[in-house]
Amino acid sequence: MEKPKLIWLNVLVFSLTGLITLIGVPLYALTYGFDGWQIAAMIGGIIFCEISITAGYHRLWSHRAYEAHWLIRLIFAIGGTFATQNSILHWSSDHRAHHLHVDDNDRDPYSAKRGFWYSHMGWMLRDYEVHADPQYKNCRDLQKDPVVMWQHRYYLPLVLGINFGIPLLLGIRHGDIAGMLLLAGVARLAISHHMTFFINSLAHVWGSQPYSDRNTSRDNGLIALLTMGEGYHNYHHSFQRDYRNGIRWWQFDPTKWLIRSLAGLKLAKNLYRTPVEQIESSRARMLLTSTSRKLAQQPHADVLMLRLRTEYEILMNRINEFAQAKKQWMQARKASAMENYDLDALKEKAEQLKENFLQQKKQWLMLNAKLA
Ligand SMILES: [Zn+2]
Ligand SMILES: [Zn+2]
Repeated sequence: MEKPKLIWLNVLVFSLTGLITLIGVPLYALTYGFDGWQIAAMIGGIIFCEISITAGYHRLWSHRAYEAHWLIRLIFAIGGTFATQNSILHWSSDHRAHHLHVDDNDRDPYSAKRGFWYSHMGWMLRDYEVHADPQYKNCRDLQKDPVVMWQHRYYLPLVLGINFGIPLLLGIRHGDIAGMLLLAGVARLAISHHMTFFINSLAHVWGSQPYSDRNTSRDNGLIALLTMGEGYHNYHHSFQRDYRNGIRWWQFDPTKWLIRSLAGLKLAKNLYRTPVEQIESSRARMLLTSTSRKLAQQPHADVLMLRLRTEYEILMNRINEFAQAKKQWMQARKASAMENYDLDALKEKAEQLKENFLQQKKQWLMLNAKLA
């Protein structure tokens, strides 16, 4: 079968920025050298580009994980334009298709099942027409955001203006214009590109699957370090609306920290968190699957399997009891139809049932560790 046509503009941009970063930048460093200001400008630029994509393009616009003040949306729109990954509208449309049809080679624009290279950047180099939704029908909501439409309409002049303008101004201010263009212009762009691309490639092949094995997405702390916290991709594909990707306090997720700080400053609101019972049910189901697989290869598997299943059923019951009690309490609180002491009683019951389920969770994890 003949390959689709090359998209020469993309081929040129990616290969030129890549080659200049790999060859031109080291040569310039050896000949003229860079100083701390230029390196700081590059790192600052990478962080600005990357976090505008993760907190803005990805969690705010594609997934509606929270709402943000127009000033924050404007800053993310500028940072995302600086990152040069197409308009918010286009990016989000592709990304929503990725989640809806993940791993479907004909409908996921960067399906990991088509190989590492394709999901990393190959999908942008040829006219594959997988991401052909010219009306952006899956992003009707975003078309009501004036910041999104402004950036979409003027994307090309904005990309050129910002990508040449910011490094040029920094260069004039600094004195070494060529050096600044190389570091804050080209290297910043190439590095931030690949940091984002890793989420589509690496985070679909390398890591663990604690929440689901229904798609190729993986959790990987090392990838989180490279991607502003987006390495917990198995969690993300399981609970895409959550404003967090790394849900434990020790997991590296600066995007989550930024969103939370913005909420503290009243610049963001309605941060969506997946209810704990849903997260724990998914984890338990996945653990049941993986331990059962291991047990199947052992002698006397039937007896052990029965024990595992029993503990699992108990855990699921406890989780459900807790979820019910929590729902009752929340509904009563919302309706404020009750006296305070009745509300307190409902809250206490929910807390007690949470304690019960956490106790059972401990037992369940211990049993799994023993059997596996
Ligand atoms: Zn993905
Ligand atoms: Zn996503």
